[in-house]
Amino acid sequence: MKGLCSMYDIIVIGAGTAGLSAAIYAVRAGKSVVVLEGKNYGGQIINTPSIENYPGIKNISGFEFATNLYEQAIELGAKVEYKKVNGIDKGIEARYKVIIDDKNNEDSYYECDKVIIATGTINRKLGIDREDELIGKGISYCATCDGAFYRGKDVAVIGGGNTALEDAAFLSNYCNKVYVIHRRESFRGEDALVNVLKDKDNVEFILDSVVTSLKGNEVLSSIEIINLKTKDVSNIKVSGVFIAIGQVPKNEEFAEIIDVDEYGYIIAGEDCRTTMEGIYVAGDCRTKKVRQLTTAAADGAMAALAACEE
Ligand code: NAP
Repeated sequence: MKGLCSMYDIIVIGAGTAGLSAAIYAVRAGKSVVVLEGKNYGGQIINTPSIENYPGIKNISGFEFATNLYEQAIELGAKVEYKKVNGIDKGIEARYKVIIDDKNNEDSYYECDKVIIATGTINRKLGIDREDELIGKGISYCATCDGAFYRGKDVAVIGGGNTALEDAAFLSNYCNKVYVIHRRESFRGEDALVNVLKDKDNVEFILDSVVTSLKGNEVLSSIEIINLKTKDVSNIKVSGVFIAIGQVPKNEEFAEIIDVDEYGYIIAGEDCRTTMEGIYVAGDCRTKKVRQLTTAAADGAMAALAACEE
């Protein structure tokens, strides 16, 4: 650390898998590191019930994985502070100012030489009427967080990726019936997960279909779906709908200083360098083909080592 308590060699934005992995590599390279996190440590994976594809770990819950990673980073010397970053600017004594509020005084930013952005992604919304209004009243984006509220009830999971399939498997242990509604005739997620669901008596696939409306007065009571091939419209009584249709980046805060693509992902290659020297990006928030736990951790290492070597 140099002089001021708010000055660091490296600031990591985001305490998910990519950010904490970056912090581990950077502190082990002798750098002063603070990780700034707007919500909770762990990122997306913290809500995953069971991880079975991280090399070297046969099975672990997302919570345990994230907590281990967090504790590892702290024990090695990284600081984690719960502050939402509002932007990155040119620094005064150091290269960059990482702005944490808009007061425009000394407490409103931290300075550093290098920045690693690892902000991940947020849940994509269906974009249909009443979706926001019914959050917490039948609509959820997190089966592991909210699944227990639907014990013994009928629910639907929307989506065809691994998250939707895992959510359905998890919910099938508590719920009376789980409908998996997907807009195509086959799933994007792994066959192994599809096969697990096929073996469950209380799981039903509704394919080639999308939800067109959410019904109920105070709380959700049913959904209307349309089959995209036959155009048949039907109603299903459900108490809960778990929306698992992927993620979107949220990088508006950084779009003034670095380039993002048309979808908002920060443009970078496998070396994790952005279009601005000294700013790196790691994990799901950058342009990349494969967004997995392993690639998030790998990005963290790449970004930190690149930041340390210059
Ligand atoms: P995803 O793989 O992007 O899948 C999103 C699904 O939602 C797709 O099936 C997509 O349909 C559907 N979808 C998107 N927009 C929609 C809309 N407006 N209406 C209806 N359906 C819509 O997202 P994910 O499942 O969250 O997974 C994200 C990444 O994390 C993936 O790489 C996944 O493999 C990984 N992941 C890994 C694990 C694990 O390893 N244990 C667990 C969870 C997630 P289409 O197929 O038609 O595009």
